Amino acid sequence: MTVDPSQPKQRLSLKGARSATTAPATLPWPVLVVDDDPQIHLMTKVLLRDFQFQDRPFEIISAHSVAEARTVLAANPDLPVMLLDVVMETHAAGLDVARYARDELGNHRLRIILRTGQPGEAPERQVMIDYDINDYRSKTELTAQKLFTAVVSALRSWTHIDTIERLNATLEARVLERTRELEEARAFAERLVEMLPSPVWFKDETGRYRMHNRAFRDFFAIDGTATETTHLPDDDSDARLMAGEAERVDLETTLTDATGMPRALMVSKALLRMPDNSPHGIIGVATDITERKALERELRRLATIDPLTGALNRRQFMAEATQERERAARYGTPLSVVMLDIDLFKRVNDTHGHAMGDEVLRKVVEACRANLREVDSFGRLGGEEFAALLPQTDLAGAHLLAERLRRAITELRIPLGVDDLRVTASLGVAERDESEPSFDKMLHRADQAMYRAKQAGRDRVEQASSRG
Ligand code: GH3
Ligand code: MG
Ligand code: MG
Repeated sequence: MTVDPSQPKQRLSLKGARSATTAPATLPWPVLVVDDDPQIHLMTKVLLRDFQFQDRPFEIISAHSVAEARTVLAANPDLPVMLLDVVMETHAAGLDVARYARDELGNHRLRIILRTGQPGEAPERQVMIDYDINDYRSKTELTAQKLFTAVVSALRSWTHIDTIERLNATLEARVLERTRELEEARAFAERLVEMLPSPVWFKDETGRYRMHNRAFRDFFAIDGTATETTHLPDDDSDARLMAGEAERVDLETTLTDATGMPRALMVSKALLRMPDNSPHGIIGVATDITERKALERELRRLATIDPLTGALNRRQFMAEATQERERAARYGTPLSVVMLDIDLFKRVNDTHGHAMGDEVLRKVVEACRANLREVDSFGRLGGEEFAALLPQTDLAGAHLLAERLRRAITELRIPLGVDDLRVTASLGVAERDESEPSFDKMLHRADQAMYRAKQAGRDRVEQASSRG
């Protein structure tokens, strides 16, 4: 009941031995002896004095009462072994200590060896089970060897349990950390997808839209809970992905958005697989390329059209003419070209100004195109020099057409103050010649014919003979 004055107080705290398994190997194993008989403490100390376990000696911590035992247990959760007297203040005081350790402190690692003075004091079996008593010895049968065996066996169990618990704790901490990392990554990905300006969706294997971002909902004017949309056309690419015929599909399509505007979209779809590799669904992302498409069209137009008159520029005309000539050569069909140069155009500029010259150019082009077919090409080759390419047309036909163009130009009336301005043009016609190697040669013959028209007094049509 009283504290043994021979036991210094600091023994009650085992700060250095909190972690027995990680402590330096020379630290002693603390063994708590709870007994109201001072003799027992002394005897235990003596009996264990010359033994070591795993190169570590034993250190007896003494408690002489239930209260003292509670204090030591509460302060030392890593105590491995307790040799516990059953009968102290009361008949079952020792069991109180055991219950305290197990139930109140929740210490299930501590190995408890019960000791009784007399055989009749053995606790009931149910008590052994309830309080998880690990061993039971009679004080009288305790030789040094037997005590050592009992303590070592208890230490082994404690060490195993301790190791397992530490591993569990580490594992739990790692799982917790990993779970947190995964949750972070998931939150990041979700936020990112939601913020993307492009519509993104996930369509599961049953065809339901299980996930979509804000851009997707805005595009199709659906709310966050919608699992269906009739707007996305169900082309066969989804089926091909799900059948494993492709891992990814890129396609261009035009869809009408929520405001009724047609939008050009570049759609990329990829198959999402389950961990067992079975198809789980399709992830899609659509990039709005409406503006890019419009820009491309505009660039193409700018690169092929003469901005002043709307006629093809020289490069585009020559490209189309070269192609047409090859086609005509392949199929043996006729092809003709008309060269056209406005007469005395310099004078128009000099007399009426450059702006009026521009207006004349536009009117001439307008008049010519009105007389041409869809299949004909009309280009501006230079300042006031134009050419018309006439597929399926022989020299005679081209001559008639050139004459029509000449007349259309003379009939032009360009308003100019009191009088209207009138212009004429000289034209040269040439037809494709089998023996001629390029379109350039053919154009050159038309140019020469046109020059002859100038020579002959302008406002007329001249035709080139075939080569030679
Ligand atoms: P010819 O009957 O012999 O063809 O005489 P011309 O005056 O038409 O011939 P010339 O080649 O001497 O003059 C062509 C003129 O066309 C000179 C140039 O200033 C003018 N010109 C060329 N491009 C443009 C243009 O884009 N706008 C205007 N207003 N004039 C242009
Ligand atoms: Mg001219
Ligand atoms: Mg000229």
